[in-house]
Amino acid sequence: MDQNTRLPMGVPGEADDDTSLLRLIVEHIPNMIFVKEAANLTFVLFNRAGEDLLGYPRAEMLGKNDYDFFPTDQADFFTDKDRNVFEAPGVLDIPREPIETRDQGRRWLHTKKVPIVDADGDPAYLLGISEDITEFVETEDRLRIYEQFLREAPIGLCLYEYEGDGVYRCHAINRMMAAINGRSVDEHLGATLSEIVPQMAPTLQPIWDRVMESGDTRHGEVSAPDPRRPDEEAWWLTSYCRLRATNSARQFIGGAVQDITALKRAESNLRQALAENRDLTEFAYMASHDLKTPIRNVGHIAELIREEFAGRELPGDVPLYLEELEANARRGQAMIDGLLRLARVQTEGGDMTRQVDTDALVAGALRSLAGEIEATGAVIEREPLPRVAGDAAQLGQVFANLLANALKYRRPGVTPHIDVRGGSDGTYAVISISDNGIGIPHHQKDRLFTMFTRLHAAGSDGEGIGLALVRRIVERHGGTISVQSQPDIGSTFTFSLPLL
Ligand code: ADP
Repeated sequence: MDQNTRLPMGVPGEADDDTSLLRLIVEHIPNMIFVKEAANLTFVLFNRAGEDLLGYPRAEMLGKNDYDFFPTDQADFFTDKDRNVFEAPGVLDIPREPIETRDQGRRWLHTKKVPIVDADGDPAYLLGISEDITEFVETEDRLRIYEQFLREAPIGLCLYEYEGDGVYRCHAINRMMAAINGRSVDEHLGATLSEIVPQMAPTLQPIWDRVMESGDTRHGEVSAPDPRRPDEEAWWLTSYCRLRATNSARQFIGGAVQDITALKRAESNLRQALAENRDLTEFAYMASHDLKTPIRNVGHIAELIREEFAGRELPGDVPLYLEELEANARRGQAMIDGLLRLARVQTEGGDMTRQVDTDALVAGALRSLAGEIEATGAVIEREPLPRVAGDAAQLGQVFANLLANALKYRRPGVTPHIDVRGGSDGTYAVISISDNGIGIPHHQKDRLFTMFTRLHAAGSDGEGIGLALVRRIVERHGGTISVQSQPDIGSTFTFSLPLL
């Protein structure tokens, strides 16, 4: 028997000669070692590491083949490789193969297989050595996922190596960051910050230097000409932190960047609109305040003329002119009062977060309309309304105006019928006030809520301020108001207010 044919063995013996020493080595080596018979690929040798890994005692393995232990696809794969070993002599390296073990589930092996030939050069055995690389494979998997996450993250991410003296060289960058900079990922890798975004570098470098020096993470908004459209200013929300390699002195700066240009533009528009609105409100307030006196004086002068001519007949059309003058002064006065009330919604509005008992507001408004309700025989139907958060004094004006209008714009000869309903959409209370009055022509609906709009001026008093006031108050509370109406059938005003 030559050495090859003496290799198969069962339980190791004493290390009393070379062969026994060899057997001990095979037995204790911390990698799985197995030998298969070339003819039928049955196991003839199996070491302890193999037993531990696969979970089968060698007594169970010896004399059997892969199909006795492993799923068919795996056994196919193993035996396929076994055959390759005999077809092409040399070491067959299988860098990664899965194997189902009895107790440890699926493990990953790095296996090398070697043919063992007899004295005639014919295949006698197959020697296999497998290393369990499961941990490595799992770590690699985790790293791949991290890598994928960094690459695909929906926020710009970058990693620059700090080379000293203000030089930062791009080490890694994700797609989003590359897009923000208006260049490809490849154009970034290996290039320095000032080569990649020369116009940004003067802003960023001092920030990065401070992060590198202090080790503190820095968050902030940065603005510069947009690298994709240099004639436009862009804004980014940025966070930078220092990172240090574990096994070397290399230092990095890691960044997370979000483009907030659209947000910034919206914010600036809003700010401008708010400033304009505040200016306008102040202007309206001051103008109406200042106009009060001259208009009151016009009325006063008309009064003086009447007193001057008391008991005497006024010539020609003068009495008519005088009446016109007085009526206009009254109207001017009322309009200015309306304007002032409108301006005060903003300037003198109270806390809008208090609990408001809307039912009490409806009851209050109906009380002050009691005379009119009785005179017209109006029928009022109401259901309990949701409580809301708001400024009770202002919301009282909303109900008072809408209910007064529902009565005021009634159809001649038709008993007014007013319905007050309320519900909620989860966030807002939705309240509607319906009437069976004269209605509003469809094309006029949009104008209704603007100042001084009067569609049915004739025969009714009012300055066209009421609905403008109502809308202003509702919108100040974060709600909306709309109207549905049909001429000669009636109107429904629906508005929303934040629920308590
Ligand atoms: P005012 O009542 O002082 O004229 P408003 O701002 O309250 O002012 O109303 C504006 C106009 O809208 C009214 O002149 C009227 O033409 C119309 N309107 C308001 N409420 C109703 C309603 N319930 N039915 C029909 N028309 C209405």
